[in-house]
Amino acid sequence: MSFENLGLAPFLLRALAEQGYENPTPIQEQAIPLALEGHDLLAGAQTGTGKTAAFGLPLLQHLGTAPQSVGNGPRKPRALILAPTRELATQVHDSLRGYSKYLRIPSACIYGGVGMGNQLDVLRRGVDLLVACPGRLIDHLERRSVDLSGIEILVLDEADRMLDMGFLPSINRILAKLPRQNRQTLLFSATFEESIKQLALEFMRDPKQIQVTPKNTVAETITHRVHPVDGARKRELLLHLLAQDSRVQTLVFGRTKHGCDKLAMFLEKSGIKTAAIHGNKSQGQRLRALADFKAGRVTVLVATDIAARGIDINELPKVINYDLPMVPEDYVHRIGRTGRNGSTGEAVSLVAQDEAKLLRQIVRLLDRDMDIRDVPGFEPQTPIRWGNSAPGKAELPGGQKAPRRGNGGHPARRPNSDAPRGGRGGQSQKPGGQRAAGNGQQRRDAHPGGGQRRGGGGRSQSRTSA
Ligand code: AMP
Repeated sequence: MSFENLGLAPFLLRALAEQGYENPTPIQEQAIPLALEGHDLLAGAQTGTGKTAAFGLPLLQHLGTAPQSVGNGPRKPRALILAPTRELATQVHDSLRGYSKYLRIPSACIYGGVGMGNQLDVLRRGVDLLVACPGRLIDHLERRSVDLSGIEILVLDEADRMLDMGFLPSINRILAKLPRQNRQTLLFSATFEESIKQLALEFMRDPKQIQVTPKNTVAETITHRVHPVDGARKRELLLHLLAQDSRVQTLVFGRTKHGCDKLAMFLEKSGIKTAAIHGNKSQGQRLRALADFKAGRVTVLVATDIAARGIDINELPKVINYDLPMVPEDYVHRIGRTGRNGSTGEAVSLVAQDEAKLLRQIVRLLDRDMDIRDVPGFEPQTPIRWGNSAPGKAELPGGQKAPRRGNGGHPARRPNSDAPRGGRGGQSQKPGGQRAAGNGQQRRDAHPGGGQRRGGGGRSQSRTSA
């Protein structure tokens, strides 16, 4: 399949060729023809799949070929892309500028955290395309500095993240300002919880559903264990866990390149043969690290999500999340390295207070219980407040579940009941694929009253990044 076959116009094909795109990705193959035909789309795809071009190319083709309804008065935006964060909005805007190199499409990128001046100027001059974060767009609507009554195409990018960040009320307010008739809506989301489906039902027209994300499932044979710990003590705890069985090949995930390097150095100095792979390493360095790991010359490989993607490590008994991934789906990718072909595997996550929300999202995505247990000697100084419901149990979609009464949702502060005192505590169980629901639940039940919800729980950050 080529881009030509998808029905794209020459002005786009030329730009794509210059960007070095040879063939469409699967989401592009599915989405582009349907979107060009004018269908609404409910698309399951996450970052890295080429989703931006999947909605961006048909959108640009429409702007470049469909005549603009010329009315009196200033130019109004014809296409609106809503994105959860400033980073994503900027990225989408930049990508679309690249794809529209041979078109003249005035555009603006609108997000919060910066002055209004420039945005007001651009909007006053008039744009066809608006990429915006919901919070700041509402500010503009309130000032009447933008008129959305001419929107012909609406894109909701990373809809699940927008809802997660509490943008639903803003999105509803924005939707109310859009024309109902003759509008095409493209909704892209990594996950499809009930709240997204509800949103789609309300304002989409007979949407076609497409999906490229793998199902968010992990092998049943994997034990998911969470060790609450203070952020400052993660290194020590990691060392403690690794030292318990120095022969086990372990893949350790960190969030940043720098963090991975520092961690690898620390482990190496502590006597554990370690290699690191991340985006700043050359291809040669990465291949060497991987070969050393596979051959057992290093026992620990520290990796970022991006670097680990696409690397072929067949079977691993243990994956440790030193940091939780920012995107819950990445947990699935990480853990997919263990428990393959029916073998047992262990996924261990070191979770500090500032990751409680991420853990909740992961549990919700997996719909699986996690065994939350302190490691003796590494208990957090203050018990972790998990937020609006216990992370050991799956929440209702949208994170709207009320806190469980009598189950405050924080883990045991002491390694009692199921972990022998003075022993290895959290490590005393065999990773025999046992489902740990009972453990996690019992332990939290044994310590009711903590973990009370703070403010709006996961919904309190709505305007911070827009
Ligand atoms: P996205 O999922 O939209 O964030 O895209 C991920 C990356 O893939 C971006 O760097 C795009 O530039 C790149 N990309 C998207 N589509 C293609 C394609 N058909 N061929 C090559 N690279 C692509």
